[in-house]
Amino acid sequence: MLQQRFKVTCFVGHDIQSLALAEHYFGATHDYPDSILVRVHRGTGAGILVNGQIFLGSNGNVGEIGHIQIDPLGERCHCGNFGCLETVVSNGAIEQRVAHLLSQGYSSKLTREECTITAICKTANRGDTLAQDVLEHAGKYLGKALAIAINLFNPQKVVIAGEITDAEKILLPAIQRCVNTQVLKEFRQHLPIEVSTFNHLSPIGAFALVKRAMLNGVLLQHLLEPS
Ligand SMILES: [Zn+2]
Repeated sequence: MLQQRFKVTCFVGHDIQSLALAEHYFGATHDYPDSILVRVHRGTGAGILVNGQIFLGSNGNVGEIGHIQIDPLGERCHCGNFGCLETVVSNGAIEQRVAHLLSQGYSSKLTREECTITAICKTANRGDTLAQDVLEHAGKYLGKALAIAINLFNPQKVVIAGEITDAEKILLPAIQRCVNTQVLKEFRQHLPIEVSTFNHLSPIGAFALVKRAMLNGVLLQHLLEPS
């Protein structure tokens, strides 16, 4: 078991699975063997923990929540399909949507020159309706895809990571509304949905954290603790 966990830790490398693993060893999902972490960045991906271990599938490529189709008549995704979650929920997609709406003449405190995800979240938190609406729209679609994942994996906790969580007071309720109507009652009861502990840590940072813990023995101590 220990050997297997170390193998997994080494294998997951620089991607989102490192962040999910860091959350499990040191953060938000520490006491939750089954969890899903979703990170919105350039794309949207998920790290899935089953029984305290990263779910790797047959070749390590799992958690592509960003390519769940959420709109059959949506934009073309870089994967070649249409209307994937990533075409609506990624930093770039959100920034482009705000820029497009501004070019249409929608009123906002944002300008086309400052259409970054950080500025959008900050402006939304200050009450800007356009920024709030765009983030709520993203939260709705993220919630829709997440509801599918929750129905499939029945996690004990869901963690959301990425710059978008700077506007957690807008994002999390939008996700929660989808979960309330699209997830099986027994799966959504007592299901915390929280923002990542290591939110401003890159997956590389998370990997470094896990690796450092392995080297200094903290992780070994953790793994040897009786559960
Ligand atoms: Zn896609």
